[in-house]
Amino acid sequence: MERTNRRTFMKQSTTAGFGLAAFSLSARRIYGAESGSFNRVVYRMLGSTGYKASEMGFGAMNMREPALVRAVIDSGINYIDTAHSYMNGANEEIIGTVMKTRRNEVFLTTKIKFDKDGVEIAKMPGMIETSLKRLQTDHVDLVLLHITDKREQVFRDDLMKVFENARDKGQTRFIGVSTHENQAEVLDAVVESKFWQAVLVGYNYYSPPEVTVAIQKAREAGIAIIGMKNLITIERPRKPFPDIRENKTGTTTNQQALLKWVLNNPYVDTVVPGMTSFEQLADDIAVMGKKLTYDDRRILKRYSEKAEGRYCCGVSGCTGCREQCPYGVNVSQINRCLNYAEGYGDIGLAYENYRSLPPDSRADKCEDCDECLVECVNGINLQENIRRARVMFG
Ligand code: SF4
Ligand code: SF4
Repeated sequence: MERTNRRTFMKQSTTAGFGLAAFSLSARRIYGAESGSFNRVVYRMLGSTGYKASEMGFGAMNMREPALVRAVIDSGINYIDTAHSYMNGANEEIIGTVMKTRRNEVFLTTKIKFDKDGVEIAKMPGMIETSLKRLQTDHVDLVLLHITDKREQVFRDDLMKVFENARDKGQTRFIGVSTHENQAEVLDAVVESKFWQAVLVGYNYYSPPEVTVAIQKAREAGIAIIGMKNLITIERPRKPFPDIRENKTGTTTNQQALLKWVLNNPYVDTVVPGMTSFEQLADDIAVMGKKLTYDDRRILKRYSEKAEGRYCCGVSGCTGCREQCPYGVNVSQINRCLNYAEGYGDIGLAYENYRSLPPDSRADKCEDCDECLVECVNGINLQENIRRARVMFG
């Protein structure tokens, strides 16, 4: 994306995704039967997998209760997203205690990542085996290459080999990538590769139009599209502000409006908002099958105004500060790590992700700068963020 000013950026954000007439949303939705106290479950075909995924999936990161996993499945949600690294493996183990008896009811996905050198790639097959043991199953439905942010990664032969072998051995039915940065570049590369079958993509109300366009192109090529980072968490102050569930104007919460915006895109097959409580589950499943209304758009506009200067939308595709730092520091990725600590309250995850950044892109390099030269299109005080990152990550 070209460098853009804040006003242009906000305009792009509020208009993106509303011109998707070619692939009708009503044609994409498959309505399930009414079920007891829960809302009717709505499904969409998951790319070319042949699987009907509930349009609301379960982002399990940070979830700690097997009872919540059971409630998720009872509610009709049939897509579960975890990762080898979440909670240092405990997240997969908790899900595994439920999979023991309910594996056939869900499309189970996990992710593995590699560091920069070939040694870590050699460990990846063992990581898949470990994940399967933790999940108490002999196969998952989808394994994703976690945190893919460059075209070159999509085409790496050594990585492709690892995933192809896992699929050939029956450890997974499908293979794909996840991307938190440079989403449009990664999505386009996946289409070109004709190799990967799914993309878990950071996508929300703030995503720039080129990400929406790349999603459409990938879905039309048969790639399964799973949206993540759908909710907009505010980094500061550390107590959530405004309360994402608080909405005094109607029955739709901010959180629901954000999810409805993503699902309004018919090229998205399912979404995986993080759910750590029964209340969040109830809020999220209520969104299935609902239209994005005029009032929802007003809620979103108001919420985005509150998020201005606080939310880094690098995870949803903003490239506004790319290559601005003359010393190669990746401000957007540093903000992502900060958000794991301050928004999610997960210091371990923040630290692990920060350590996986290339050393020459971390905030250590900022020591010699009196003033940060990088300008954020969403008005974030980056100098202050860099200062906090240096304190937190050393
Ligand atoms: S720091 Fe600002 S410009 Fe950079 S990715 Fe985040 S929101 Fe965009
Ligand atoms: S403080 Fe300096 S080194 Fe750090 S991101 Fe800003 S310009 Fe780059």
